[in-house]
Amino acid sequence: MISVHDALTLILDTISPLGGERIGLLQAVGRVLAEEVHSAREVPPFANSAMDGYAVRWDDLRDASADQPVALDVIEIIQAGAVPAQAVTTGTASKIMTGAVIPPGADTVIRVEDTEEQDGRVWIKRQERPGTHIRAGGEDIHCGQVVLERGRVLRPADIGLLASVGRSTVMVRQRPRVAILSTGNELVEVDEALQPGQIVNSNAYTLAAAVQEAGCQPVPLEIARDTLAEIRAALYEAVRHDVVLSTGGVSVGDFDFVKAAMDELGIRRLFWQVAQRPGKPLTFGLLRERPYFGLPGNPVSALVCFYLYVRPALGRMMGQEKVFPPVVSATVGEDIPKAKGLTEFVRCRLIRTNEHYQVLSTGSQSSGVLSSLSLGEGLMIGPPELALLPKGMHVKVLIFDPDQFAGEEAPF
Ligand code: AMP
Ligand code: MG
Repeated sequence: MISVHDALTLILDTISPLGGERIGLLQAVGRVLAEEVHSAREVPPFANSAMDGYAVRWDDLRDASADQPVALDVIEIIQAGAVPAQAVTTGTASKIMTGAVIPPGADTVIRVEDTEEQDGRVWIKRQERPGTHIRAGGEDIHCGQVVLERGRVLRPADIGLLASVGRSTVMVRQRPRVAILSTGNELVEVDEALQPGQIVNSNAYTLAAAVQEAGCQPVPLEIARDTLAEIRAALYEAVRHDVVLSTGGVSVGDFDFVKAAMDELGIRRLFWQVAQRPGKPLTFGLLRERPYFGLPGNPVSALVCFYLYVRPALGRMMGQEKVFPPVVSATVGEDIPKAKGLTEFVRCRLIRTNEHYQVLSTGSQSSGVLSSLSLGEGLMIGPPELALLPKGMHVKVLIFDPDQFAGEEAPF
């Protein structure tokens, strides 16, 4: 039996990122950049006005004030998107809109609010400093500059940056295709009537959803019955994908054939059984470079193992740098018994008081009770050496719910 730490380290040591693919900009949000993006242009491409106002020569305004405004002749109105037709010379000004090109000769913009215009002349009531309200060409991005680094998870602002430097496509890491293989004679699909002894193949749905949430592509396969031949055939099919997840059949029951099927297919087993609860029967192997996770059948164990091991591995394959779940520190709110010798991941609720978290167990920690995971907001980590997490103890809590830190009240 391997420790939680060693299992995770072993898995991540064997995983390498997938190759890149070129995709359209709008498909790229949330994807990991697989190239260093340089700008082939200046952004903005030209000096432009930051305000609606008048483009002037600052030299003309040296003595301007509200009491003694300076009068200039208005020679042109420059709209955004237009090219100025005239240069601003001493004693003249061009009316200019936000985003319009600064005309030759002008070095400063005075806001409309600081002027008065009448009969083709404008009275400037404020001096300003030279260069005020002018956005220089290249102020945002210079030509040749690195705009975004490889490995970055693209957010909306990044997508906009890519657009502004003229990139309509971008190289990102491929998303792993993840085969999901459910094993068990008792399993039926969600819309089938249950015969005696049967249950719904809920794991396939849980895992497909988790794979999707992780930004990867789930490929659910047909249910495999508990015979060595059927599981071997299903696994043979499954290993054509980037990653394989199977559920069930990895324990010590008379009909648990997954390990034997792995051996027959030459899937090299790196470990079987982790000193943890839930999820002790987890097994991990490699067929050539492809990772294979034999997840336990119990619904809670399967999903917890996914969060703990599969999701970081998928993150690595997609080139992500931050692959681990967020952790918060909390105080145990009640005595919680646990299994000595195993790291226990206790499904828990977090109660927040004054920036501090208290954790309570969600109740039954049976690995068949999926509702306790659905109710929970995190997994508190119980160290292996303890048989009890006493009230008041400090623990780390893993957070898997991305909405956990969203607010219920408006912050302003
Ligand atoms: P196993 O690991 O195959 O011994 O299964 C352990 C428990 O998980 C049994 O109670 C199974 O019925 C249940 N189980 C296995 N596979 C699934 C599945 N795909 N969906 C829901 N429950 C399952
Ligand atoms: Mg089974």
